[in-house]
Amino acid sequence: AQQFGMTEALEILGIKTLNQGTSTGSNWFSSNEKIDSFSPVDGKLVASVTTTTPQDYEKVMQAASEAFKTFRLMPAPKRGEIVRQFGEKLRKYKEPLGKLVSYEMGKSYQEGLGEVQEMIDICDFAVGLSRQLHGLTMHSERPGHRMYEQYHPLGIVGIISAFNFPVAVWSWNTALAWICGDVCVWKPSEKTPLCGVACQNIIAEVLKENNLPEGISCLINGDYKVGEMMTHDKRVPLVSATGSTRMGKIVAQACAARLGNSLLELGGNNAIIVTPDADIKMTVIGAVFGAVGTAGQRCTSTRRLIIHESIYEKVKEALVSAYGQLRIGNPLDQNNHVGPLIDTHAVEMYNKALEKVVAEGGNILVKGGVLQGEGYESGCYVKPAIAEAQNHFEIVQHETFAPVLYLLKYSGDVHEAIAIQNGVAQGLSSAIMTNNLREAEAFLSHAGSDCGIANVNIGTSGAEIGGAFGGEKETGGGRESGSDAWRVYMRRQTNTINYTTNLPLAQGIKFDL
Ligand code: NAD
Repeated sequence: AQQFGMTEALEILGIKTLNQGTSTGSNWFSSNEKIDSFSPVDGKLVASVTTTTPQDYEKVMQAASEAFKTFRLMPAPKRGEIVRQFGEKLRKYKEPLGKLVSYEMGKSYQEGLGEVQEMIDICDFAVGLSRQLHGLTMHSERPGHRMYEQYHPLGIVGIISAFNFPVAVWSWNTALAWICGDVCVWKPSEKTPLCGVACQNIIAEVLKENNLPEGISCLINGDYKVGEMMTHDKRVPLVSATGSTRMGKIVAQACAARLGNSLLELGGNNAIIVTPDADIKMTVIGAVFGAVGTAGQRCTSTRRLIIHESIYEKVKEALVSAYGQLRIGNPLDQNNHVGPLIDTHAVEMYNKALEKVVAEGGNILVKGGVLQGEGYESGCYVKPAIAEAQNHFEIVQHETFAPVLYLLKYSGDVHEAIAIQNGVAQGLSSAIMTNNLREAEAFLSHAGSDCGIANVNIGTSGAEIGGAFGGEKETGGGRESGSDAWRVYMRRQTNTINYTTNLPLAQGIKFDL
């Protein structure tokens, strides 16, 4: 149950409401330029955020560089303790932060809370990990020598994030980067800048309570131009960027041009294969949630259903019936299933996709449309749509960030379905619905799904932080979150130590003086 209203939530998070302009929890910023944040829920202006100028960026980078000098010397488990305290603060602020996520981004309040829960979970994960940043030892070919490999902090990690996970993605990066001894500079999406301010205020509290420099966590605001300050900056050894493939290609090239590293989490075009042995009830639940949850604005949203012809009609009917029951409206009202798109530009893209699929020969099964009238004043609410299409259609090959689901039919064996699933440029998430062991194993085999995530009997969306998260091909190849994703936030060093009085050379080389 919601305990308080939106105004109170903003107050708790330290966000000054209604056009007062707020900086970043710090007083570094001087610009008069602002980003106005409008809620897609009701179209109202929530607050404005100061944009970062190149001069302010310099101040931020100096603060971050200075902070790194001390933070890297703090023992990793002690840094873990800071992340533990951050997790505790997130527990305290879970409701207001979840509410802000819902109001500024438009996802349901439950999903907003879920996003904050992911932040808490990655903190817990990182705390344990802070005692496990292990290297390897290996045997030297030289007598009396020891050889090992260790990991050191990297430096300043730049984080560029997308609007659709306005707080969780930042924490996936920071929780790991901080225990690794790095300091972070974050440029959130210009569509959700207040979520950035709220998170910065929370971590600033923790840093202050521990007498640690503010530069351990920095926030910069603005559009791609502010992001580019970091991608071109030699002082930033790693830029972790989440967003569209178009953006990822630019960021990757900018970083590579200075031989910096980039960690890319880009667009998906995720499919569920539905075989003759699928449980239809589970399939429909997984597919509908995957396609309409967050109004189709998850990187792991289900975009394509690849259905065997023998059960095609049955699945189709069940989907049409389920779509008929969807309630669209204010995401803060827990009775609604589908909230708004992020802005009217996204609505335009949604309309274009529906026009395009028809122009390419597709058949609209569940009609879309933009909702108007009371409760829909923001102009961002659309009806989830289903179209029968073919995988080679240009629009199907493309990620439309909206609730449009394409039904594709196959008639052969599972290998045909896998070829269709793999037959797109993106490689993020994939799933198969089957009770047939051979089909499931073929899907998971070396010749199976080519995605970073491959699931059996669950949908494409909703990942747990324990596993490494990311995708292949045009999804960018990066891995974040669990497993050994931490390694990318550190630099590796190989050490050889001679504890004898001789200096034997490697490969038996003689060098007598
Ligand atoms: P976007 O690419 O428009 O923007 C993402 C971020 O990149 C923003 O902060 C933006 O300001 C910044 N940016 C854009 N151009 C830049 C440039 N040239 N240099 C530096 N920064 C730049 O994406 P969006 O509309 O906010 O988000 C939706 C996209 O994000 C979808 O494609 C979705 O699949 C993807 N996404 C992927 C993942 C993942 O983990 N794979 C997670 C969430 C979202």
